[in-house]
Amino acid sequence: MKHVHRRLAAVAAAAVLAAVGAAAMNIPVSQAAANCANGYVALTYDDGPTSSTGALLSALQSAGARATFFNIGQRAQANPSQVRAQQTAGMWIGNHSWTHPHLTQLGTSQITSELTQTQQAIQQATGTAPRLFRPPYGETNANLRAVESQLGLTEVLWSVDSQDWNGASTAQIVQAASNLQAGGVILMHDGYSTTINAIPQIVANLNSRGLCPGMISTATGRAVAPDGTQTPPPSGGTTPPPGGGTSTCTATYTQTQRWGDRFNGQVTIRAGSTAITSWTATVTVGSGQRVSATWNGSPSWDSSGNVMTMRPSGNGSLPAGGSTTFGFTVMVTNGNFAAPATTCRTP
Ligand code: ZN
Repeated sequence: MKHVHRRLAAVAAAAVLAAVGAAAMNIPVSQAAANCANGYVALTYDDGPTSSTGALLSALQSAGARATFFNIGQRAQANPSQVRAQQTAGMWIGNHSWTHPHLTQLGTSQITSELTQTQQAIQQATGTAPRLFRPPYGETNANLRAVESQLGLTEVLWSVDSQDWNGASTAQIVQAASNLQAGGVILMHDGYSTTINAIPQIVANLNSRGLCPGMISTATGRAVAPDGTQTPPPSGGTTPPPGGGTSTCTATYTQTQRWGDRFNGQVTIRAGSTAITSWTATVTVGSGQRVSATWNGSPSWDSSGNVMTMRPSGNGSLPAGGSTTFGFTVMVTNGNFAAPATTCRTP
């Protein structure tokens, strides 16, 4: 028996060495070849966070790749530390609805609730509300798109379906990714070991074609170079220069005062690395909350009354890096003092 055990141990050790050897070979290949001359594609992972989010993040970091995670809101609320781990690992985070329903079968108020609750859960975990939204099952219609627009969300579908949700093997997932073209987006999911195991080969194959993993543009829903507003890739690879010259803005929320039945909030709108001609912000309040007053802006509301769209009351132009603020009072009827979700877009 001992003899057998030693033989098994030797075989296992050989297998480990072989695996280490393969991994060691993959790293220089993907990094040395990481020229992005032919553009960017977006790796996307839906339905997290899950118990395998950590392993997925590790695989992406080992490959020097950044990806976009479309999280389910109720999972984000239950596992905020996993959402923060996505952010810390340099990933982009999008909204994938609260309960993953067939949204095209729901009314406007239910759709609004699915999207706004998720905005708030992710904002509470990361400090930032998503700008990207992927409809469950890729099902969309005019009703849903109107809600997305009110919340400042860009709808993101995909150009390649990995079929990982449908039992595809690692080799089949790698094969699907080989069909990605510049600007393209591949649908994958958080939760499958086949998907995690495909990452080194997907990245190496992309790099061999002069393509790199990038971020998804909020203007087009397609893949573009990372814009440098997020943390840089943690290992290896290239850090592409700030790209595009697209004008962007960010919205940062601060609670400035609080009473028993209400609170005052302030939102700072800041231009990115280029000047902006104007801006549009959304402030989404939760259940039992209602905006009762505003200042330094020109507000409008959606039919639910939960989503306030704020525009500049005068000239909204800001120089690069410049900022302005607006404020509001939120009445609270059920003890919900949660911070509203805020977004900014240009113009
Ligand atoms: Zn999904």
